[in-house]
Amino acid sequence: MRAAVYTSKDEPLAVRDVEQPHPNAGEVGLRVARVGICGSDLHVKEAGNFPGGIVFGHEFAGVIDELGEGVGDWRVGDRVVSLPIHHCGQCEACLQDKIGLCERIVFTGYSLDHSGAYAEHTVVPTHSLHKVPDGVTFDNAAMVEPLSVSRRAVSRTPIGKDSVVLVIGTGPIGAGVVQFAKIAGAAKVIVSEMSEERRDLAMAMGADAAIDPSAEPLLERIEQIAGKRPDVIFECVGVPGLIQQAIEIAAYEATIMVVGVCFDQDHFHPNMAVKRELTLGFSNCYMHEDFAAVLDAMASGALDPSAMHTSTIGLDEVPEAFEKLMTTKTGCKTLIDPSGGAL
Ligand SMILES: [Zn+2]
Ligand SMILES: [Zn+2]
Repeated sequence: MRAAVYTSKDEPLAVRDVEQPHPNAGEVGLRVARVGICGSDLHVKEAGNFPGGIVFGHEFAGVIDELGEGVGDWRVGDRVVSLPIHHCGQCEACLQDKIGLCERIVFTGYSLDHSGAYAEHTVVPTHSLHKVPDGVTFDNAAMVEPLSVSRRAVSRTPIGKDSVVLVIGTGPIGAGVVQFAKIAGAAKVIVSEMSEERRDLAMAMGADAAIDPSAEPLLERIEQIAGKRPDVIFECVGVPGLIQQAIEIAAYEATIMVVGVCFDQDHFHPNMAVKRELTLGFSNCYMHEDFAAVLDAMASGALDPSAMHTSTIGLDEVPEAFEKLMTTKTGCKTLIDPSGGAL
């Protein structure tokens, strides 16, 4: 089968013939229909700290085309998505069924043992599968994984009908947070985002207003629009300084939920947070319930992420498109169709 393979940080991904994986007991083989290019894939290649030979791709949807032993009711032809998580089953988190918080978690697409879906076929364990409901397209199904990150963050945050929600940064995760905050019933969802393209995306996802914080005074504009400071702030960027910014503009008793992943050390003034009794929380990954909720919301029509879908490319176009995405951060979600238009 053909796959786009990571070789080193200095070389573009290489489209090659590789051995097709076949399912062991408890696994099924998938024909990949769509797989999203994730910012994490770009970061991993940039950092170059993973072994050559990895096939990326953890945001995917496909059709079962091969069954291992003991796979229960799963059938060839089932349309599915899969949590790209390999958990240990033994740590404290796993014993509580919080598999997304497993201490020894390994993600599909970041390990030679668990190849990802930038390929015509991949293999997944049945315990990670979810059926894609009829009427949900493969394009949307391939975005269930990033949307599950957004869904989990919103579900862990108190949002009421009077809540004024601020979303800092509307890449794919922030864009999903906008839509789930609306579904949760927030009075106003306002976005702070420097990119015009991403402000437009936020509005298409249902935001009430989008502010460019480099051009306008953020807090003043929020107060004009909503009549008060934000009660809930989602930090979806992961850059030092943004937690402090959130603390400075939050209403008293507000909740700040950090979803953006920052690898650097960050600083903030606890005193300002104490004075207004803020709650600072963090959200990571997803569980099965998040995948199920996202698929339900897509099936019912409550969630429509189609504005997040920027373009679809074939496997042959991956190396060039990937290099371009590493330097120019435009668009939201590029999907790969390894089936060549067949699915
Ligand atoms: Zn991702
Ligand atoms: Zn574990």
